[in-house]
Amino acid sequence: MRVVIAIFFLWILVFPITDWWVRFISRKAINKESGTGAKVCLSFDDGPDQRYTPEVLNILKKFQVPALFFLVGAKAERFPDLVKRIEAEGHQIGSHTYFHRHAYLLSPWKSLKTITKGVQALEAIIKKPVVWFRPPWGALNFFQYLWLRRLGLRILLWNASARDWLKKTGASGIMKLLLPKVRPHSIILLHDSGGEPGAPANTIAALPGIIEKLQAAGYTFVTPEEILREGSNHAKRRIS
Ligand SMILES: [Zn+2]
Repeated sequence: MRVVIAIFFLWILVFPITDWWVRFISRKAINKESGTGAKVCLSFDDGPDQRYTPEVLNILKKFQVPALFFLVGAKAERFPDLVKRIEAEGHQIGSHTYFHRHAYLLSPWKSLKTITKGVQALEAIIKKPVVWFRPPWGALNFFQYLWLRRLGLRILLWNASARDWLKKTGASGIMKLLLPKVRPHSIILLHDSGGEPGAPANTIAALPGIIEKLQAAGYTFVTPEEILREGSNHAKRRIS
């Protein structure tokens, strides 16, 4: 019985407690006070996607808006030209692991491997160090937290999202859910791939309206460095 209790507490420490802690510090890192004007950061997860990513890039180009793409390593290896296009059009690239598995379901070994392999897959294509990391579903375990710190990767979660991974949300549903959540210094999460089949088409349909409405409300789209408290003081990482 004691062994069972000990394992249970260890599990709580390794998975949920680390996860809550990272979410807590990530919320604290968002700087609500400094800077002028209302700034927001747009981020897209789960790509690159042969069908949807080019459409997202076309919209961003039309509105001259920068974004951060959290790419899945295995998909990036299949579509390296899309990764290069994201980079060439002035957007940032972050890692969203190699396999896109939930952190609570990974062994210590797989926890580290999915991070290292994910980052290496991207760096082999863009020939630049990857700095940003976002865990799938925003969930991290203790092994991953330590490993990310060792590699010098910065965790970026989000504070405005719109269930755009569900097809039934629809384009108008995405706008209705997202816009009231956006505040100065919001990190907006959308998806250019993944979720239910066809769901990213709704995100693409909603995207021009989201950008126009936020710009009309006085928001400018910026990089995460301009929103986080620590600024851009993270250039220590070298290519792995
Ligand atoms: Zn994801």
